Amino acid sequence: TEDFYMRRMYGRIVDCWNRPICSAPTAWVDVMKRERARDTNGIDIAHIVPTGGHIRCLNLSSYNYLGFAAFDPYCTPRAVGAIENLGISSCSPRIHAGTTSVHVELEELVARFLGVEDAITYGMGFATNSSTIPALVGKGCLVISDALNHSSIVAGIRASSAKVKVFRHNDADHLEKLLKLAIAEGQPRSHRPWKKILVIVEGVYSMEGETCRLKEIVEVAKKYRAYTYLDEAHSIGALGSTGRGCCEHWGVNPRDVDIMMGTFTKSFGSCGGYIAGKREVVEHLRRHSPAHLYACSMAPGCVEQVTSALHVMMGMDGTDRGKQKIDQLHDNANYVRSRLLTMGLDVLGSWDSPVMPIMTYNAAKMVAFSRLTLARKLAMVVVGFPATPVLLTRTRICISASHTREDLDWAIEQMEEVVDLCMLRYRTKALYQL
Ligand code: PMP
Repeated sequence: TEDFYMRRMYGRIVDCWNRPICSAPTAWVDVMKRERARDTNGIDIAHIVPTGGHIRCLNLSSYNYLGFAAFDPYCTPRAVGAIENLGISSCSPRIHAGTTSVHVELEELVARFLGVEDAITYGMGFATNSSTIPALVGKGCLVISDALNHSSIVAGIRASSAKVKVFRHNDADHLEKLLKLAIAEGQPRSHRPWKKILVIVEGVYSMEGETCRLKEIVEVAKKYRAYTYLDEAHSIGALGSTGRGCCEHWGVNPRDVDIMMGTFTKSFGSCGGYIAGKREVVEHLRRHSPAHLYACSMAPGCVEQVTSALHVMMGMDGTDRGKQKIDQLHDNANYVRSRLLTMGLDVLGSWDSPVMPIMTYNAAKMVAFSRLTLARKLAMVVVGFPATPVLLTRTRICISASHTREDLDWAIEQMEEVVDLCMLRYRTKALYQL
């Protein structure tokens, strides 16, 4: 019975998950219409079939935080030009024939933007983490990882054969406790407890919308002479008055973070990832990181898209459009957050963060919320088991600079109705005794 129930529930969750988007990730998107399949006896089976039609929805799902992913008057012609000159793909790893002039230019620009010595780029954000971490730590090393770190970080740690300890999410005191214990324990038969200790955190946590308490974490790590690794997938471009991420947001010197990691799939509207930091670290990765040595380099059009987006963000296009986009993102995110809180919803995350999970606590409510909002032309992501514990299911909104105030007011109006239908106002958390 349990299995049947789980399958039914999972089937239902799948029903409102992953609805294919059939247009560019602009503020409004076309979402594919689907129907449940029936078997020959007319019984509902969990498969979902596309019907060919689509629904125009307000896009509250994409990570297109600065609105660069669809047409941009500065970026798009340059990205198209790169494809015309250099091709769709480099068809080769960086160390063979996969390094083009645009790759070198981008790495210099990323380092300049972040205020560090050097940077290296990769064809994929996930592989940036999963292949860099094993190139930095191995046997005899210790990784102390935030409990809610992304799956690509977990994959990297697992592949590294370093010992791992997990500290409570965003809790610098717990991190300090673990560091103290780790140093006391140490490694037998060694003059130093650990070859290296690496503390890994994220700038903005993608399922929590919460900003890393970077200042405290860096202080603790420095006190115990541990290295810090900051994944800025969701914070680069999104946090800080000029989009320089978590360091700028908290006033931390970027050179105090040993390894700055980020992806180009969010604020830059492209594909790929980077590691930035001291020249010797980046040089080490150029020689030892498998995703650099054995995987195809970033596609030239994607490289040019990021370079152009950085030009705009740094005012190198001769306008202040970049600054306007970043301010607009913060205004939009803080406006929606305050309206949702006033509505009496349990909204997770921090001010300025474009990621806003709304807690539904109940899988059935999550499904209902998703269906009812979709019926009102709002496309948002639902997150439940196994991505979160069953009782911590949620719906997640991602805000973009390309949303207008009218779009957001309209979305909130639609959500007000759904929130009442799902009984999500006030005391929901208390109801589930969490
Ligand atoms: N790190 C974090 C924190 C992420 O959220 C993600 C994916 N959203 C990645 C890494 C992987 O990035 P990509 O999707 O660019 O491969």
